[in-house]
Amino acid sequence: VASSFAQDRYDRMQYRRTGRSGLMLPAISLGAWETFGGYRGEEVARACLYRAFDLGITHFDLANNYGRPPGNAERVVGKILRDMPRDELIISSKAGYRMWPGPYGEWLSKKYLVASLDQSLQRLGLDYVDIFYAHRPDPETPLEETMAALDLIVRQGKALYVGVSNFSGVQFENAVSITKQMGLTPITIHQPYYNLLGRRPEYDLFDHTLRAGAGVITFSPLAQGLLTSKYLGSDLPDDSRAAAWWGKSQNDEVLTGEKLDKIRRLNAIAQERGQTLAQMALAWNLRHPAVTSVLIGASKVEQIEENVAALENLAFSVEELKAIDEITGV
Ligand code: NDP
Repeated sequence: VASSFAQDRYDRMQYRRTGRSGLMLPAISLGAWETFGGYRGEEVARACLYRAFDLGITHFDLANNYGRPPGNAERVVGKILRDMPRDELIISSKAGYRMWPGPYGEWLSKKYLVASLDQSLQRLGLDYVDIFYAHRPDPETPLEETMAALDLIVRQGKALYVGVSNFSGVQFENAVSITKQMGLTPITIHQPYYNLLGRRPEYDLFDHTLRAGAGVITFSPLAQGLLTSKYLGSDLPDDSRAAAWWGKSQNDEVLTGEKLDKIRRLNAIAQERGQTLAQMALAWNLRHPAVTSVLIGASKVEQIEENVAALENLAFSVEELKAIDEITGV
């Protein structure tokens, strides 16, 4: 294990309780989805994970299918984790999207969840993950089977906590009821899409998670980079996810659409607060009492540093919140 991690790594990060569980998460967590083992290789991934950890980011998020080819993110990050102190880290993975051919390679059957986590642990080089998620709702498999499979995985010691991702408020509520009725491992955390351009959880989900005592970690809090200073100009930056991965129609929308107008107006509010747009977007997510942590991606170390500095100003005035609501709608 590298012995050179910053001595002061726990001094500035905020750690928040995940719902009513024992699990504390950093206010900012780091995911690997498109970046590590995807459009960024091992060297960038290592630099980002090390810098993140030095800044107090103790939680790294993965899934079976992240990276190119699918699984590569777990392989790349797993290699780096061998040089990091396992007991100081919270590592998550998920299963739900297509991972291998045939009827057992996606959705939420017991067969798929158990087999997929075994594969993830192999790629990661770990004995267990800290959080294992059902990655998306499955319209066909009974939720009882899925929740029992997650419980089995915990009893086998392959995961410590379980979560769901992309579940609606009603789907989440049903899953919670089933765990209670069947006496299964409770759902510790929900991972929804939530940001200034996508506010659905405010009216569909957060009431449910608060009531159930589950935490929330919001993914794509920067709308994949749209809520940063990156796309404010009239040219697409070469080193952007948009240039690297998105199709032309999506890019045209980024640069010309109504979205860009909103982004520019939000940027003006951020400037008045003395923050970058990315910092305001993260602070704004964290303002909601249901939100435990924001789950960012990063293609370079500097982005992590800028984003962590969001913690220096998390407070919003009533006027600022109103101005934001007017731009984004509620
Ligand atoms: P973000 O919204 O944070 O977008 C991250 C991207 O934004 C970066 O890769 C970078 O893109 C850009 N960026 C970040 N910070 C800055 C900055 N300060 N200035 C300029 N650009 C910046 O999150 P993601 O969409 O990447 O998702 C984050 C994580 O959430 C994933 O890694 C994954 O773990 C999880 N996730 C979960 C899903 C689920 O279904 N449960 C779905 C999607 C994500 P660039 O390359 O352009 O520099």
